[in-house]
Amino acid sequence: MIFRPIYSKIQEMQAKNLSLPSRARSCAHKGEPLCAGEEYVSYLDTENKEMVREDFCISCWKEVEEQKKGVFWRGRIAEKKQTKCTPDEKALAYCQSLIKDEPTTDHEKILFVLALYLERRGGLTRCRHAKGVADLLIYEIPDTGETYSVKSTFLTPQEGEKIIARLNETIS
Ligand SMILES: [Zn+2]
Repeated sequence: MIFRPIYSKIQEMQAKNLSLPSRARSCAHKGEPLCAGEEYVSYLDTENKEMVREDFCISCWKEVEEQKKGVFWRGRIAEKKQTKCTPDEKALAYCQSLIKDEPTTDHEKILFVLALYLERRGGLTRCRHAKGVADLLIYEIPDTGETYSVKSTFLTPQEGEKIIARLNETIS
């Protein structure tokens, strides 16, 4: 795997006082969580005016590498005490991958339950007093400042139970 030098691009950005978008917590290709200790490839689409960053696990990068023409680099996520993702980290990564997907009613419902769970666990902070966004809840990841909107959705108790059972499987 050959990585292009990015120094000139970064110098150019520093000169313009631009900062790099922060690394995502899940793979841009398939949505798996990017965990502590894992290697990843970050790709910057420098063709756009808005700089778009995508992060990939190594195996997905191999699938998409040929189509990517911008700047990229490889890194390894710092080890934490535990090498496995905690359920809360998995929940947050899953939440982020759902946000990126095409919105479907199913996804909106799962996302709503996930956001409420993460809010209670401190993984997301709800922004208060949002105006002009009737049924949207605005959430922020406290560590990174990444901000998302989540649709407030009606659920029957049966739907709620189903979603919770599915989430337990996904994040445990
Ligand atoms: Zn992947």
